[in-house]
Amino acid sequence: MSAETGTQHELVIVSLYPRDMNIYGDRGNVLALERRAAAHGFAPRVVEVNPGDPLPDTIDLIVGGGGQDSGQGRVAADLALRADEIRALAADGTPMLMICGLYQLFGHRFVTHTGDELAGIGVLDVETRGGSERMIGNIVLDTPEFGEIIGYENHSGNTTLGSGSAPLGRVVQGAGNNPTDGVEGARTANVIGSYLHGSLLPKNPAISDFLIGEAARRRTGAFEPRVEVGETVRRARESAKRRPR
Ligand code: GLN
Repeated sequence: MSAETGTQHELVIVSLYPRDMNIYGDRGNVLALERRAAAHGFAPRVVEVNPGDPLPDTIDLIVGGGGQDSGQGRVAADLALRADEIRALAADGTPMLMICGLYQLFGHRFVTHTGDELAGIGVLDVETRGGSERMIGNIVLDTPEFGEIIGYENHSGNTTLGSGSAPLGRVVQGAGNNPTDGVEGARTANVIGSYLHGSLLPKNPAISDFLIGEAARRRTGAFEPRVEVGETVRRARESAKRRPR
């Protein structure tokens, strides 16, 4: 029990750049975390942080979405100002989920297809180069930690991993980080980057539970899950998988 609510521990979820970086329903990740954290017995509080806004004093979890190259251009300079703070939180084990455009900016750099370079904050050991072909469609991964993960990708950036990040999973269907490596996403400490929209979390509660669990352990020293994965989600996952690319 916490003093904050009398009955539940608060969980502060930062939604990073929702104004500029939120396509293909990436906001669904925030909603899914909010709902699932509440189902696990927490009192989630979402703080939206757009360029120029302060980060809250307490942060349990950070979630960011995708956007066009232009949106990435709008947030890159602001992100650079917060780089040290976010890197320190990542090093301290704060769970984070960054999708597509912000996945790219959490790496070292994103060089667009026109040759402009956007500096990233290097939380993930990846770099991305814009290509001439888009990778679009439903995607299925096999991951060591979360089992089968499903989602939707749409990007022209080709991402390559350095030794400081492990892939999120092996690509079973779709492209992933790039058309040749056969892997998708990146993970360093409790920070996950991925190209999967969809939104990712409503279809893949195992990742929500990982993020909430790590946030809870960091804040309270323990996590006792209170809900399982329901039949509705299981059925939605099956139908999403069957849809052609
Ligand atoms: N602009 C980036 C790309 O196409 C990111 C796209 C996205 O976030 N969906 O690679």
